[in-house]
Amino acid sequence: MELRDGGFTALVQVAGIPPAEKRRVVERLPSEAPVNRLIEKNITRVPFSGCWLWTKSVVRGYGRASRGVKFAYAHRVAYEDYVGPIPKGLWVLHRCDVPSCCNPAHLFLGTPKDNTADSMAKGRHKAPPRRSYWKLTDQQRSEIVVKFNAGVPAVDLAAEYGVHKSRVHQLNRAAKAENK
Ligand SMILES: [Zn+2]
Repeated sequence: MELRDGGFTALVQVAGIPPAEKRRVVERLPSEAPVNRLIEKNITRVPFSGCWLWTKSVVRGYGRASRGVKFAYAHRVAYEDYVGPIPKGLWVLHRCDVPSCCNPAHLFLGTPKDNTADSMAKGRHKAPPRRSYWKLTDQQRSEIVVKFNAGVPAVDLAAEYGVHKSRVHQLNRAAKAENK
C-alpha cells in the first residue's frame, strides 16, 4: 500500500504493538487520508521507542493542542485524526507510558478505571512531581534532553517535570559532555 507519510508507516512497525492494532492504524491511512499538520508540525520523533513527543506546551505531562479556540489534549487530537472518534466517556491511554506522546500507534481507548489499573501495573501511580528535589528517572532525563534540543523552553520542561529550570540546563550540559 502506498502511504503518503513514509515516516508514519515506519513507526507503525514499532515492536510490541499487536498486529490487529497495527492493521487498524494503517487502515486509517489510505493516500487520501488528511495528514494532520497540527500534530506533525509539533512533535519530535524519538528513535527506538517510536514516541512522538509533543514539543509545544504541556499540562501535567500531557501535550496541549488548541483546536480552534478550544483546549484539547494533543494525544486525543492525534487519536481522533489518525484512528477515529473517541466514544463519550472513554479516555485515550498510552501503552508507551509517555503522556506527551502523540504516536497513534501507542494510543488505545480505555476507561478512567483502566487508566488507574494500567498505571498501577506500570508503577507510576504516584503524586505528580512538584518539588525541585524530586528525583528523575533515566527515561525522564533523556526525555528532557531530547525535548530541550527540539526547542521546548527550559521553563516549560521545568514545569512539566517538576524541577527547577537550571536543572534542565544542567542535564543538557551533562548529556553533551557525555557525548563528546
Ligand atoms: Zn509513545
